[in-house]
Amino acid sequence: HDRLRLFDLPLDVITLPATLDLLGGWLADEARAPHTVVTLNPEIIVQSRTHPEFVRAVQDADLVTADGVGIVYAARQLRGEEVPRAPGFDIVKGLMQRHGADLSVFFLGAKPGVAEVAAQNAAREYGVTVAGVHHGYFGPEDDERVARLVAASGAGLLLTAMGAGRQEVFNQQWRGVLGVPVMIGCGGVIDVLAG
Ligand code: UDP
Repeated sequence: HDRLRLFDLPLDVITLPATLDLLGGWLADEARAPHTVVTLNPEIIVQSRTHPEFVRAVQDADLVTADGVGIVYAARQLRGEEVPRAPGFDIVKGLMQRHGADLSVFFLGAKPGVAEVAAQNAAREYGVTVAGVHHGYFGPEDDERVARLVAASGAGLLLTAMGAGRQEVFNQQWRGVLGVPVMIGCGGVIDVLAG
């Protein structure tokens, strides 16, 4: 697929089905090479203007998709390009539907107690395997402890839902420790899964 630049950030021109195929390949890789996925939204772009570490997290991501119409319009207006949407929630749901019990998921984020409910619902609805859960309210001093917890879980998919920017930086800064084949910053997805 092609990669554009939008506000000095990369943006991949990739459909949802092609995204699911690509991520499926990463999940199937026995070497478990770590990958980060950013679903770009206007909030991340605005924040990146004042937070260089957000820019790095997006620049270093293996895949950057358009989360919503705001990005689609921006790419059309500023670059004359048609970029399909591949929203975070649709990616997560699509992976769960395609891979079911073969998919081991760590739910990281949201208020204490919410990730547990999201995990139960995902296991019931899609049959996924729950690798672990942790809330998203901890300071930088706990980053390494949480990253090691995730690494020890052996998850194939890490859902990091700790607010735009923070979640992308966490995945990027700790990717070597986390070592998860697919790590995706996905905003409110744990809240949505929890219902
Ligand atoms: N969240 C979190 N830790 C934080 C801030 C937010 O886990 O320090 C969670 C929050 O509970 C919600 C998700 O991140 O489940 C998205 O939060 P919000 O909509 O406030 O963030 P946005 O993505 O809009 O910046």
